[in-house]
Amino acid sequence: MNPCSCLRLGVLFLSLLAPATISVGAAPTQTPPPNILLIVGDDMGYADVGFHGCKDIPTPNLDALAAAGVRFTSGYVSGPYCSPTRAGLLTGKYQQRFGHEFNPTGSDGLPVTETTLADRLKAAGYATGLVGKWHLGFQPKMHPQQRGFTEFYGFLGGEHSYFDSTSIQRDTTPVKEMDYTTDAFGREAVAFIQRHKENPWFLYLAFNAVHTPMHATADRLAKFPGIADKQRRTYAAMMIAMDEAIGHVRQTLAQTGQETNTLICFISDNGGPTMKGVTVNGASNLPLRGSKRTTLEGGIRVPFVVAWPGHLKPGVFYSPAIQLDLHVTALAAAGVEVKPEWQLDGVNLLPFLTGEKTGAPHDALYWRLGQQMAIRAGDYKLVRHDQNADTQTGVQQQPVTAAKLYDLRRDIGETNDLAAAQPEKLRELQTRWNKWNATLATPLWGQSSTPPGNRNGKKPGAGFKRKTRQANSK
Ligand code: CA
Repeated sequence: MNPCSCLRLGVLFLSLLAPATISVGAAPTQTPPPNILLIVGDDMGYADVGFHGCKDIPTPNLDALAAAGVRFTSGYVSGPYCSPTRAGLLTGKYQQRFGHEFNPTGSDGLPVTETTLADRLKAAGYATGLVGKWHLGFQPKMHPQQRGFTEFYGFLGGEHSYFDSTSIQRDTTPVKEMDYTTDAFGREAVAFIQRHKENPWFLYLAFNAVHTPMHATADRLAKFPGIADKQRRTYAAMMIAMDEAIGHVRQTLAQTGQETNTLICFISDNGGPTMKGVTVNGASNLPLRGSKRTTLEGGIRVPFVVAWPGHLKPGVFYSPAIQLDLHVTALAAAGVEVKPEWQLDGVNLLPFLTGEKTGAPHDALYWRLGQQMAIRAGDYKLVRHDQNADTQTGVQQQPVTAAKLYDLRRDIGETNDLAAAQPEKLRELQTRWNKWNATLATPLWGQSSTPPGNRNGKKPGAGFKRKTRQANSK
């Protein structure tokens, strides 16, 4: 590969600020470490943001964030669905290393032997909070407040109604939430940012938007008379709710004087679910091929932005990066030293974004989800993916395809298989993947037959049905 081509040199270091580690009695003249705001969308399509060219859904606040920061064209997640990506994000390690390969069910969750980003930033003196979706276990010992988050407002499962407070808690106490949950999560994020403006803080704002169930408010649905497809219209209405919430959050940062002292990262946890017959939400991953739950690009390449106004010059970053990097990047910004024994897989992106380092952050990126696999090294990708990714039939003779080789620079849509033409490249990538695969753990639990993930064993009650009929466009 040609690493230099991956970085547009417009991304420059504006400040050589080295944040001081927080310590009691630190001199007041020291620059305080920045706040860390990690925003995660859920099941968003790669195509469905204005900064990727989306035309039918306006995302002005996400576009403004991207324009104020660095937009990644090859930003990836290590899991093609919800919980594994979150496990990787919060630990900074490929989640398959500790067996968190699939969505957990029942009593399973992020192993308590793992340390989270919240644990690390809390130890560095940060105020820590999670607003939104957890999806890393229901057991009391796995509760966010046992995993480094001092404050919690949200739900523990993998999905939730947007009109019902069935499983919403503040800390460990169930609450009666009257707002549409995306609005509520925006409200709680704003309150957290205002509450902690005097101290460094870490906020993990994990929306469940735009995951199913497809619930939107009537006023937002009314903004899309031109979208004929009802599911896409609902999706659009859910997207703009999240976009508005992010706008409120950024407005609060500006109003409280925290704009240039807050590192903001935004990703979707996986690609849009587009395989008919499983779960779909109206997302589009074009021009990428494939869906959530596949190791094709559509499952793993996502909208990905890192913004730190006044410190990172806005630009575009072309080299592959992965959500594991955000963990290490956040630690670096906070002045937390990464210890070798932590065995993190993420890379600090800051020197690459400032131009201090050139080249690619990673020699290769890797994926495994059961028998699906992928490796991207430079422009080349080797992949074995779910056979249903294209057929959309729900019937399969074999679980995965044979190994396919693609040149993503020339073929972002993964249509021209080079496996027969370039057998040496195929063998090289397979060998590299095999070496990585040999370092992984046996999955701690199996792949659930119910793809949407953990529903907390609860079925929607009568109130749920009554409320959602009013605004659900189905
Ligand atoms: Ca998801």
